[in-house]
Amino acid sequence: MSVLIYAENAAGKFKKSTFEALSYAKAIADQNSTNLIAISIGDVANDELAVLGKYGAEKVLNVANDKLKNFVNQAYASVIAEAAKANGADIVVISNSFSGRGLAPRLGVKLDAGVADGAVALPEQNGGKFTVKKTAFSGKAFAIVELTSQNKIIALAPNAYKVVESGTTAPVEDFNIETKASDFTAMIKDIVRATDKVSLPDAEIVVSAGRGLKGPENWDMIEELADLLGAATACSKPVSDSGWRPHSEHVGQTGIAVSPNLYIAIGISGAIQHLAGVSSSKVIVVINKDAEAPFFKVADYGIVGDAFEVLPKLIAAVKEY
Ligand code: FAD
Repeated sequence: MSVLIYAENAAGKFKKSTFEALSYAKAIADQNSTNLIAISIGDVANDELAVLGKYGAEKVLNVANDKLKNFVNQAYASVIAEAAKANGADIVVISNSFSGRGLAPRLGVKLDAGVADGAVALPEQNGGKFTVKKTAFSGKAFAIVELTSQNKIIALAPNAYKVVESGTTAPVEDFNIETKASDFTAMIKDIVRATDKVSLPDAEIVVSAGRGLKGPENWDMIEELADLLGAATACSKPVSDSGWRPHSEHVGQTGIAVSPNLYIAIGISGAIQHLAGVSSSKVIVVINKDAEAPFFKVADYGIVGDAFEVLPKLIAAVKEY
């Protein structure tokens, strides 16, 4: 038995969520007194690959194949499944990222494995039972799922597990498999990064705004606060539907689910569909001029006030700090 972790990269650099998943996988390997192997797919330099050892990987499998330079759901799932089989890994850990959400079910089928997606805690392994706590109903609840299959896939929610350093560097080995044409029926030809700002799903702090901001011309304040805090920006659905902000910022039931350490909601009412994607944030701060806004019910801190008065003061205070 061993544990395999898929180390996801963005433009050749491992993401924070990858180090979280790696630290989490290391803890599972320790629970089971077994080896931890990492697999990286795409164009990643050797120095970067070796860094995976710092967070617990004992060996890194490097799949450098031109066809696999950009993420392809089916093909990546095939490669990871083959690596799991070749290394006797019966637990595969991935991040519950955009890519991870595509990979998890495919890996489940390929490895005949039970899947726990959106895991938020280490598995409990008692009396032969293997249970994992995970988010359910778009983040509105938690579920404890029991994985009864021999092979298991766990997709770790972002910001759910701390990055822990536990080693030095890891040896890197090439891992090559024959790719099949049927794995490439839909391919990404190129990725153009729209922004170099903090990525929303990985962000530790999110500054989010809703219709209370009145119009896109008022987002300078939101961006300024986010830049000062090193935060990602987000918005409610009607804001992106109206074209005030890009759809990539829309959070909630039909948008991105986030669980940052701090979520600041400005001029957002707190409708159930919005809360579905943000309620697992560790600390929620709400700024709304209506004291009866539903968001205050789930807020850790609240400011009842006009965003146009509160935000300039908040920005000035953060600048001074
Ligand atoms: P509003 O409801 O208009 O609220 C604006 C808030 O701003 C109010 O609370 C108001 O008091 C406050 N405000 C106004 N002026 C100021 C000011 N000057 N200073 C401070 N506060 C001020 N919504 C999502 O966000 N994400 C989703 O994923 C999502 N999915 C949905 C799926 C379905 C099937 C449906 C039916 C709806 C979905 N919605 C979603 C929409 C959701 O129901 C709400 O309509 C939406 O979240 C409201 O957005 P809002 O809070 O920005 O706007």
